[in-house]
Amino acid sequence: MFEQLGLIGCGLMGGSFALAMKRAGLVKRVVGYSKSPSTTERARQMGVIDVEAPSALLAVSGADIVLLAVPVSATEATLKAIRHLVTPNMLVMDVGSTKRDVVDAARRVLRDNVGSFVPAHPIAGKEVSGVEHADPDLYLGKQVILTPIERTQVGHLKRAQEAWEALGCHVVQMAPEAHDAAFAAVSHLPHLISFALMHGIVNQESGKEFLGLAGPGFRDFTRIAASDPKMWRDVLIANRHELVEQAKIFQRSLHNLLQLAEDSSGEKLEAMIEQASSARAGWRMGKK
Ligand code: NAP
Repeated sequence: MFEQLGLIGCGLMGGSFALAMKRAGLVKRVVGYSKSPSTTERARQMGVIDVEAPSALLAVSGADIVLLAVPVSATEATLKAIRHLVTPNMLVMDVGSTKRDVVDAARRVLRDNVGSFVPAHPIAGKEVSGVEHADPDLYLGKQVILTPIERTQVGHLKRAQEAWEALGCHVVQMAPEAHDAAFAAVSHLPHLISFALMHGIVNQESGKEFLGLAGPGFRDFTRIAASDPKMWRDVLIANRHELVEQAKIFQRSLHNLLQLAEDSSGEKLEAMIEQASSARAGWRMGKK
């Protein structure tokens, strides 16, 4: 399907995409670039990429598909670095967890060639980062959200959708704004709360002791608190406006639950828990 993948950011997400594309026979050659030469070298040693590029621009040279798998805060600089080699025939995608900032950067930087860019967010990942954890199965059975804009070329959108589907993904399309609002609620706020909970516990006198007593509920609830700090710093800042809106809604629910507990208002407290419990029991990943 593709001759050459130009991979910028040979970490968990980018490395997994390269491995999956190769395994599916969707690409003949992968040329990769990462900020640290040691990462790029490791990616080649692991067979994630075939050729090491000394710059982002050279990773793009000769590619018919390009994937940006860098922190969202590095998207604009990366697009600036490659823009001279982006052509109308080249499919350029990203995997960033936020989409409005990425789309705004693409509009500003790619200008007439913005139609080549198909913004993507695979709903897949791990708490660990780095090429060492790249996994060709990472995307299998997962959702991928594409957030095209009015200037996105229909042909590129179709090719992007076909590529993700060929990797075993279920593709959904939505506007970048709708994406950021939804993921503030179901991803960014839960991470923030998980970080806050851990932070609050470890910074109290008996925190260590409490942690020693914690069980599986705590383990499940805080799994995401072990995520990559730099990546999450970027995501929380990039989507801060939607995050604040969702945090306000959460604060109201938290306040109401606490108030009912404080007032020993058992019936009402149970009713609120019942609503949450049945909503969670009926929830299935990827289903409305
Ligand atoms: P990662 O494993 O840390 O990989 C990021 C890679 O980007 C690293 O190889 C890093 O190189 C490289 N990099 C950083 N700045 C760069 C720059 N300016 N130019 C070129 N390369 C650069 O992180 P990841 O988990 O793959 O995350 C990548 C993207 O995927 C992020 O935008 C994130 O929002 C998104 N995402 C992540 C998840 C998840 O669960 N992890 C899920 C969905 C989406 P060095 O090794 O040299 O530092």
